This record gives sequence, structure tokens and C-alpha cells, in this order.
Amino acid sequence: MSGPGEVVVVGGGMVGAAITCALAQRGFQVRLLERQAPECGWPRGDFEIRVSAISRASKNLFANVGAWPEMVRRRVTPYERMVVWEAGGGELRFDAGELGEPELGHIIENGVVQCALWSVLRERPEVEVIAGAELLSLEPDERRPRLTVKLRGEARRLEADLVIGADGARSQLRELAGIGTSGWSYEQHALVCTVRAEEGNRSTAWQRFMPSGPLALLPLERRHFSIVWSTTPAEAARLAELENGAFDEALTRASEGRLGRLTLEGERGLFPLRLQHASRYIAPGLALVGDAAHVIHPLAGQGVNLGLMDAAELVEVLTRARERRRPLGHLQTLRRYERARKGENLAMQAAMDLLKRLFGNDVPPLKAARNLALELADRVDPLKRLLVRNAMGTWGELPPLVRAPS
Ligand SMILES: Cc1cc2nc3c(=O)[nH]c(=O)nc-3n(C[C@H](O)[C@H](O)[C@H](O)COP(=O)(O)OP(=O)(O)OC[C@H]3O[C@@H](n4cnc5c(N)ncnc54)[C@H](O)[C@@H]3O)c2cc1C
Repeated sequence: MSGPGEVVVVGGGMVGAAITCALAQRGFQVRLLERQAPECGWPRGDFEIRVSAISRASKNLFANVGAWPEMVRRRVTPYERMVVWEAGGGELRFDAGELGEPELGHIIENGVVQCALWSVLRERPEVEVIAGAELLSLEPDERRPRLTVKLRGEARRLEADLVIGADGARSQLRELAGIGTSGWSYEQHALVCTVRAEEGNRSTAWQRFMPSGPLALLPLERRHFSIVWSTTPAEAARLAELENGAFDEALTRASEGRLGRLTLEGERGLFPLRLQHASRYIAPGLALVGDAAHVIHPLAGQGVNLGLMDAAELVEVLTRARERRRPLGHLQTLRRYERARKGENLAMQAAMDLLKRLFGNDVPPLKAARNLALELADRVDPLKRLLVRNAMGTWGELPPLVRAPS
């Protein structure tokens, strides 16, 4: 292979935008296809209801591609402590200071992540953004995969050395490539909103396990929390329709009043939860990353972090392939990426699934075992450190893009 390497990225969400920035930084020519370019005006009045708990590894990636300062300028909230508890049961506390870390992670609005990445990629001469195009077809090919898109009423053919599918859980590209998925619905919906807490946020993330599903309270600037309340679809619908005062009461009760009274600010949103995994991450001339490849339960806030890890690994594999003059879209090249990521993503998916099931019932012996596990994890320092390093994404051998910037 000669030349800089041409890549088409389909989907400019958090993962697609991140991989576009990273590839451009390494001199690849990237065309980014996005159905709808994000609205990036700032400042915004309210907090967005979609936020992510961003791990240290993901923060490193943002810093390495030059997007972190813009995220900080907009709004990021570090959290130093985390409390996981079960009503009438065990409790597990993490404290960054005790573990010798400056913070456990950051809570960032999804739009802030996406817009900061877009502000970087829009400045890169290697990137062409094609917004508003409709994907019509894919011709997979190890050397020159081709896409046909409809843009302003006209069909246009795009060729590249590789097409990357970062087009989310309902990936059309995955479908066009004939890659199936396995998985199931959790029969749970996540109710998502922002609240103000009487007692401020104390730089602490909270998670309470209940038989109907976990309730997460993620700290946002000043006195606010982003709420992710996973429960049965019927209960979620009921909560979504409660009059504001009644909702505040229900939420304050569900959090056992640990943060004083919680008051809703703005709208509530509902997201159906499912587990989904693509049977393959690759096809000739194609690689899937992020939610296009895997969707997990949000209970440990790992979905986008895994997607960004995919991005970091794929960029590394492509950079090495280019150095060795190997075709980017060759299955032999792409298998390195799939091998590096599939096992880890499946393991995280399985761990979240197990946690969800373990805490999702009230059987007395299981409850006793859970309490014991929480208490034990709380007291055994090395175990706690391992859990934290895992959640921070700083465990094991890491691709350069997610290592701390030097
Ligand atoms: C309630 C909830 C809470 C969560 N909390 C966390 C958390 O705390 N931490 C965490 O790590 N993860 C969390 N997640 C998961 C996280 O939101 C997802 O993993 C992440 O958004 C996936 O990013 P992505 O870029 O892969 O896909 P998406 O965000 O789905 O982006 C896909 C992009 O592709 C574009 N697109 C789609 N189809 C096409 C097409 N045909 N042509 C062009 N463009 C297209 C879309 O417009 C979109 O911009 C949570 C998820 C939920 C539901």
C-alpha cells in the first residue's frame, strides 16, 4: 500500500468523531459521513440529559487528539468518590485520595464530548465532513470498498482503503455488510434527567442497587446530578409521567435521602436497554467500532469507554499496517483489531449482565451473598484498587492513544 491511507468513517457520534480525529492526526485522509452534524453553540442554558462517565483512558485519548481543553472550557465534572450500596445491605466506597489518584473519572455531557471532537476534526485539513448523506449501498472489498450515498438528491460513490462503521447500535453499515447480532432486551428502560440536590454533589457518584434495577446519580457542576434510573418499562413510564413534585419525592425516596431533597430540572427521557453484540467486527474492507459492535447495560457507565478503546486499538492496527505497506482493509490486518477487542468487550458485557442479574432480585441467600461481596470488596484494599483500575481503563496493556500524554 502506498499513500497516506484513505478511510471513510460512517457516524460522527462520540466514537466516530474520536477515531476521525486520531486518524487525521496520524496523516490518514478521512471522509466523515454523518446523518446530522451536531449543534455546537455554547454556552447552553440547561444541562443535557445524556451524559457519560468518562474513564481515565478515555480522557487520555481526548487529550492526545487535542480535544480535552475544549471539553474543559465547555463543562466537565471530575468525581473523587463513589458509593455503591444496596438498601438494607452492604456498601462499597471508593475514594480517589485513598487510592492515590486525583479523581476516579469525569462526568461529561455527550454533546460536550462530541462537539469538542468536532471542533478538532473541522480544523484538520485531512478531514472532509459529508453531513446529511443517506447511505444507499456498500460493496465490501479488501482493497477498495465502495459506498453509494445520496447527497442533496444525487447519488455519489465513495471509495477508500477502509470503511469504519461508527453508526451506533442500529448500524446500517453492519446490516449492509450482512453482519448479524446476538443479544436480548433487558425489559428495562433507563429514565434519564437532571436534578438539583439540596446537599450539593460532594464530588461523589452514587449508585443504589434495587431489585427493579440500579439508580445512578452522577455529579454535575455545583449542586446537580445526572440521573440514570433503570427500572421496568411500566415503572419507567409511570415515573416519566409523574407531576414534578411527585417525581422529586419518588426519586428522593429511592436515593434514601442521602443527598437531601432532589428537585427535577428540565425534561425526562426514556431509553430502552438491551445487550447486543455483533457476530463479527470486521468484513473485507470494513471494521465496526463502538455501539455498532456492542451495546451493554449502562449500570457501570462503560459503553462509550469501550467504544473509545476500540477506536484506540483500530488506529494502532491501521498505523502499523500502513508502516508495513499492508492493505488497511485486508482481513489479516483487521483480525488483529478484532482479536484485541472482542474478548474484552464480551467480558465487560458478561460482567455487567451478571451484576444486573445478581442485584436484580430479592432472593434472601443471594441478598446475603451480595452484602458479603460488597463488604468484602470494601475492606480488601488490593481488590478495590483492581476494581478502580479496571473502571478507569488503566489496566493491562494499553494502545498508545489511551496512555497518559507525555
Ligand atoms: C441511559 C444511558 C446511559 C449511558 N451512560 C454511559 C456512561 O456513563 N458511560 C459510558 O461509557 N457509556 C454510557 N452509555 C453508553 C453510550 O451512550 C454509548 O455507548 C455511546 O453513545 C455510543 O457511541 P457511538 O459513537 O458508538 O454511537 P452513537 O452515539 O449512537 O453515534 C452514532 C452516530 O452515527 C450517526 N449515524 C447513524 N446512522 C448513520 C448513517 N446511516 N449515516 C451517517 N451517520 C449515521 C448518528 O447520527 C450518530 O451521530 C449510556 C447509554 C445509555 C442508554
